[in-house]
Amino acid sequence: MKSVDAHLAEILATVRPLAPLELDLEQTLGATLAEDVSSPVPLPPFDNSAMDGYAVRAEDLSDIPVTLPVIDDVAAGSLELRAVGPGHTVRIMTGAPMPAGADTVVPVEWTDGGTVSVRIDRRAEAGHAVRRAGEDVQSGDVVLKAGTVIGPAQLGIIAGVGRRRVWARPRPRVVVISTGAELIEPGTALQPGQIWDSNSYTLTAAVREAGGEGFRVGSVGDDPGILLDRLDTHLVRADAIITSGGVSMGAYEPVKEALAPLGTVRFEKVAMQPGMPQGFGVLGDDQVPIFALPGNPVSSFVSFVVFVRPALDKMRGLPAGMPETVTARTTESLRSPFGRRSYLRGVLADDGTVSPAHRQGSHQLAALAAANALIMVPEDVTEVEAGAAVETVRL
Ligand code: AMP
Ligand code: MG
Repeated sequence: MKSVDAHLAEILATVRPLAPLELDLEQTLGATLAEDVSSPVPLPPFDNSAMDGYAVRAEDLSDIPVTLPVIDDVAAGSLELRAVGPGHTVRIMTGAPMPAGADTVVPVEWTDGGTVSVRIDRRAEAGHAVRRAGEDVQSGDVVLKAGTVIGPAQLGIIAGVGRRRVWARPRPRVVVISTGAELIEPGTALQPGQIWDSNSYTLTAAVREAGGEGFRVGSVGDDPGILLDRLDTHLVRADAIITSGGVSMGAYEPVKEALAPLGTVRFEKVAMQPGMPQGFGVLGDDQVPIFALPGNPVSSFVSFVVFVRPALDKMRGLPAGMPETVTARTTESLRSPFGRRSYLRGVLADDGTVSPAHRQGSHQLAALAAANALIMVPEDVTEVEAGAAVETVRL
């Protein structure tokens, strides 16, 4: 059997980071920047008020309280500004440019709020509530480095420096196909022998959570011809393909039957539990990677975590490798088959313990849904005592 490490190493040696594209701002969420983004101007671009209040000369506040005439009203976006001379004040709103002459903003809460004249009850130090040009970003400063994943705040600063488009690696587009003649869509009535297709939903959601764009195709039954046809249709828009089911040792294994003859996809036994039967390879002229995962719901999900997620990281241009682990103490003893790495379902608690689920079958999806971690038991370990330290992967 092939080791988990060797299988992942082969996957990571095969998949490549997606080529950067010039993406419109609206398309950049979850993409990975492929250029340093800098600001063409200082931010803020001009001195402005941090509060609603009155722009004054600080020197006019030496005797408090003081009443000053209000000579103008400036809102954010105001273009024409009257200078504030000695003994004068201008009513000013948050974000409005500071008028010439004024060096201080007195918050409206420290005044009587007057519009013709204003009584100021509290002294503000020079420069109070004034945001200086460039105090966030200097002109030419790099605000985001290449390799940064664009989240909402990163998207905000790209917009904030005035960019409409940036070079970035897009989120990988991943087509998810399930196989199995027994599968029907959730929301329809079960006939004898049928089950609802859960894997295509789980895997599509897992793709999205891992920073990809998931396209769920649903089940193609157990017909290798239909599978090939469906692959043909969807290959053009896929950066990667995931299939579930149809890769084990029985009859009616459509994924194996359809893809093994192509010679570019290998079907192997990987020394893990769950998830032993695995297929991986490339399809088409563009060498689109395909992950042929086993059909048992827990197996396909664990396979996603161990093999597909790191591959998506690499495609996104991010550091890629084995999932990060957290050390915890197991509350119960564990068993694991010799020669295979187990990924048992468990619940990690704040006190640093992990409680293994009691239903560890690879079909027991409800136990997976109740878990928040996978407990890894190494290949050469068959028993772990309660209280012992184990490595876990957070889900
Ligand atoms: P297979 O790998 O196709 O032999 O499937 C293994 C087991 O997983 C069988 O019990 C299938 O019914 C089940 N299974 C396969 N695909 C799915 C799916 N998409 N959703 C839920 N269960 C599935
Ligand atoms: Mg099947």
